Amino acid sequence: MLNLTFDNQFTNLLPGDSETGARQRQLSHAIFARVAPKPAAQPHLMHCSREVAEMLGLSEAQCQSDEFVQAFSGSRILPGMDPHATCYGGHQFGNWAGQLGDGRAINLGEVTTPNGHLMLQLKGAGPTPFSRSADGLAVLRSSLREYLCSEAMHHLGIPTTRALSLIGTGEEVIRDILYDGHPAPEPGAVVCRVSSSFVRFGHFQMLAARQELDLLKVFTDFVIQREFPQLISNQGLGKDQYVEFFNAVCARTAELMVHWMRVGFVHGVMNTDNLSILGETIDYGPYGWLDNFDPEWTPNTTDAANRRYRYSQQPAIAQWNLMQLANALLPLIEDPKPLEEALTEFANNYQQRWQTMMAAKLGLPSYEDKLMNRLLALLSNYEIDMTLFFRGLAHITSSVSDPFAQLADAYYLPEHTQGRAREDMEHWIQDYLDEAKRQNQDDATRHQLMQSTNPKYLLRNYLAQVAIDDAENGDYKKIDTLLNVLRRPYDEQPEYDEYAQKRPEWARHRAGCSMLSCSS
Ligand code: AMP
Ligand code: MG
Repeated sequence: MLNLTFDNQFTNLLPGDSETGARQRQLSHAIFARVAPKPAAQPHLMHCSREVAEMLGLSEAQCQSDEFVQAFSGSRILPGMDPHATCYGGHQFGNWAGQLGDGRAINLGEVTTPNGHLMLQLKGAGPTPFSRSADGLAVLRSSLREYLCSEAMHHLGIPTTRALSLIGTGEEVIRDILYDGHPAPEPGAVVCRVSSSFVRFGHFQMLAARQELDLLKVFTDFVIQREFPQLISNQGLGKDQYVEFFNAVCARTAELMVHWMRVGFVHGVMNTDNLSILGETIDYGPYGWLDNFDPEWTPNTTDAANRRYRYSQQPAIAQWNLMQLANALLPLIEDPKPLEEALTEFANNYQQRWQTMMAAKLGLPSYEDKLMNRLLALLSNYEIDMTLFFRGLAHITSSVSDPFAQLADAYYLPEHTQGRAREDMEHWIQDYLDEAKRQNQDDATRHQLMQSTNPKYLLRNYLAQVAIDDAENGDYKKIDTLLNVLRRPYDEQPEYDEYAQKRPEWARHRAGCSMLSCSS
C-alpha cells in the first residue's frame, strides 16, 4: 500500500469548472477543471528517484510495486487523489497567447509530508480541456530529459521542480521531431513531477485577462497563504502583502537567474507560462547547457531566428516576464509605483548577485570588472568549454610551472591553444593570479570556493542523448549511472571522468545534442 496522505487545498479552496473531463473549452470563473489521466497500455517503471520517494515517505520497495507503477502512469487513481488540470495563460515569445493551461499535465493532489505539502503532477498522461489540438502525451526522449535534469538541477543546489518517476506507457506517440514533415512513432512515457506548487506567472495573467478580479484576489490570497505564509501580517491580506508578494517573487527569480548563469543553463522557452511563482526551474523542454561559452547560444531551434531566450538574455527576459506579472497584479494594488520599484530592485539585486557569483567562480572575495570582462571575451572568442575552464582554473597557482596546460583541454579548437590566442590567455592568467594576491586570497581558499561554485558534472546534451538512445532500446542502466554521477556534481569522482568530457565532435550538429525543437 502506498501510504500517501492527501490534503487537496488547491481543489478544495479554489473554484473549479462545473464540467469534468477533457472536452476542449475556455474556462471562466474557475482556475482548474477535474480530468482523469488516461490509463497506460503497458506501464513499466524505468527509473525512480530515491530522494523524491523519501520526501514522500515512500520506500524503494514501494516504488517497485505494481500499485506505484499503476498510480504514477495515470492508470489508477489512489484514494485521496483529485486529478485536475489548471488554467493559465501566457506570453509566448513576447506575444499574448490567451488561454494555454495544463495541456498535458494532470495534478493528482497534494501530499502532506513532515516538511510541508507536495503536489504530485503527471506529465504526458493524456488530454485535458487545455490540450487544444494536441494529444496530451509525451515521448520518452523528452520525459527522460525532464526526469534527469530536474534531479540534476536539484543536486546542483538550484531551485527546481522535482521528478519522482519515469514510467514507459508501452504505447507509441507520433512526433515530427524536426518539424520537417517526417512524423514517426516513438515510445511514450510519463514523468511524475513534484513541487509544493506548479503555479506560474500565467495563472495570474489569465485571471487578469478575464477581468475576474474577485477570483484574482481569491487566487492570490490562496497562493500567499499556501506558499508565502511568512508574508501575512496581523492585518491579514491587503495591498501591502500583494506588494511584498511581488517583491518575493522578484527576489526568487533573480536568485534563479544567477544560478542558471553560473552553471551555463539555457532554459530555451522562457514564456510567462513557464516561470514558476516559487522561482523554481520548471518545464524542461528544449533546454541545454553551454558547452563552449557562447552567450548568444540557444538550444531551441524554434527560437533560432530571434534568439529571444539565448543564454545572455535570460535575466532581462525574467524581468520582462516579471513586468507581465506586475501588470496582472496591478488591479489588486492599484498603484503602479511599488511594482515599478520592485522591478528596478530586481535589476539591481540581480546585478549585485551576479557579480558576487562571478567573483566566486574565480574564487575571489570581490568582483573585478575589467578582469571579468576580459575573461568573458576570451571565453567567447576562442570556443572554450565553460565548465572545464573554471574547473581547470581552480588548479592553477603561482607555483604551477605551465598554468596554460591546466586549461588546454577546455579548448574545442587546437589552433586556439597556440600563438596569439594562447598568449592572450596566459596574460590573463597572470593578471588573475596577481588579482588574487591583491585580494589576499590564498590558493587553498580560492580553490575551495571555486570547487563549490563550479560544477564538474552537468547533464550535457550529448550525455542525455546517449541515455535516450539506450532507453529507446530498452536499456535503462545509463539513467541510473548518470543520476549517480549527477548527485555529486561538485565532487571530483575520478571514476566518472568520462562524464565530464567536453562535447564530442559527433554531437556538434546532431539533433538532440546541439539543437532541439519543442517537439516533445
Ligand atoms: P510548452 O511550450 O511546453 O510550455 O507548452 C505550451 C503549451 O502547450 C502548454 O499549455 C502545454 O500544456 C501545451 N502542450 C505542449 N505539448 C502538448 C501536448 N503534446 N499535448 C497537449 N498540450 C501540449
Ligand atoms: Mg510549459
